[in-house]
Amino acid sequence: MTAATTLFKLQEVDLELLKHASTLSAMPQRKRLQTIELAARKVATELKGIVGQRKDAETEIADAEEALEHYREKTAEVQAAADAGEHTHREIRDFEQQLTSLAKRIEKSEYTLRPLRERLEKLELAERNARATAERLEAERSATESALSEGTASLRAEIVRLSRERDELAGSLSPELLERYEAARKRFKGLAVERLRGNVPSVCRVKLQPSSFHDLAQGEEITECPYCHRILVTSEEGQE
Ligand SMILES: [Zn+2]
Repeated sequence: MTAATTLFKLQEVDLELLKHASTLSAMPQRKRLQTIELAARKVATELKGIVGQRKDAETEIADAEEALEHYREKTAEVQAAADAGEHTHREIRDFEQQLTSLAKRIEKSEYTLRPLRERLEKLELAERNARATAERLEAERSATESALSEGTASLRAEIVRLSRERDELAGSLSPELLERYEAARKRFKGLAVERLRGNVPSVCRVKLQPSSFHDLAQGEEITECPYCHRILVTSEEGQE
């Protein structure tokens, strides 16, 4: 293969690779995966907030229960003391006052606990829902990834094959020419090389002036288009 033929073949392979890469990135599953990822992040943030609130509620409930337990024990103690032996009127009045005050505290603790327990129940439900949503999203992500992987298996195999072919073609060009090609490829988005057909370059299609056509025809086979500055091959197809 001549250098000119190799250049065209390389360009063909590169264009094919570009096309495959864009097909891959346009797969509908990719869009779906992005949507899933956003939803999963949102749920994770929500879940973190819910878990924090749930733990706070549990702490508040534990504190209130501890206080309640303390007042109940205290009540039993006072009651036991009141029941033991004879007491003066004054002592009996003191016991009664203590028991009344403890009963009020117990009532207050129970009153505090009710809404706290309701709140905890709601938070536990919200937490279960959020965890279920997170699991559902994870399952959907995994299924979408499998579908994407299956749907693109042949395409990815083709990309691997083309990449190997590209390496071989690139390796057979001189480093200088390869460097020129790579620079032109980036500059012209893949269409780096054109061929002179008659006196018209195949990509930019700007008809050459007779004088520059004459100069180019006499010069190197691989040169530069005077108009668009792509790599220009001056030989006819199959005749290089
Ligand atoms: Zn040109």
